[in-house]
Amino acid sequence: MDGNNDPLGDLSTNFWKWEFRCPCQKCRRIKVRVSSLLLFKLEMVRMTFNDKPVIVLSGNRCEEENKRVGGFPSSKHIPNPDGEASDIRIKGVKPIDIGLAAEKIGGLRIGIAKTYCHLDVKSPSPSKFWIYIGNKIIYSGSIENESLLKFYKIVMGEK
Ligand SMILES: [Zn+2]
Ligand SMILES: [Zn+2]
Repeated sequence: MDGNNDPLGDLSTNFWKWEFRCPCQKCRRIKVRVSSLLLFKLEMVRMTFNDKPVIVLSGNRCEEENKRVGGFPSSKHIPNPDGEASDIRIKGVKPIDIGLAAEKIGGLRIGIAKTYCHLDVKSPSPSKFWIYIGNKIIYSGSIENESLLKFYKIVMGEK
């Protein structure tokens, strides 16, 4: 037995509660709650990139923290009861490439920022993709929901 499939993290094989904890002072002792579906998808993203570590920049956020970072009011980062969103980055991988991998995995809404990729497991309503440009966010419509790459090219071309 080589034990390669043994869970290491305390949330899933490769993810730990501390990575998803709301960074504010008030939440220090609050339970970290992350959707197991999201964790499963994040493990799949990690596998796509040959098990390169997925760095979680933002997981759970309380309402105050979400406001502080300028998050969407009903953000999936806010546990209800579980957090269903994460902002991630993988060293040496462009956010758009993380997004395209996530699109292939399916069942994810995808936000592309300059330095990270937002993933959440909420169903598209109506947008499935969005792109952060400076402090603006451009959302996909139902037609653009069919291809992240197409949408990305349209948005980046228009800039
Ligand atoms: Zn907090
Ligand atoms: Zn996010």
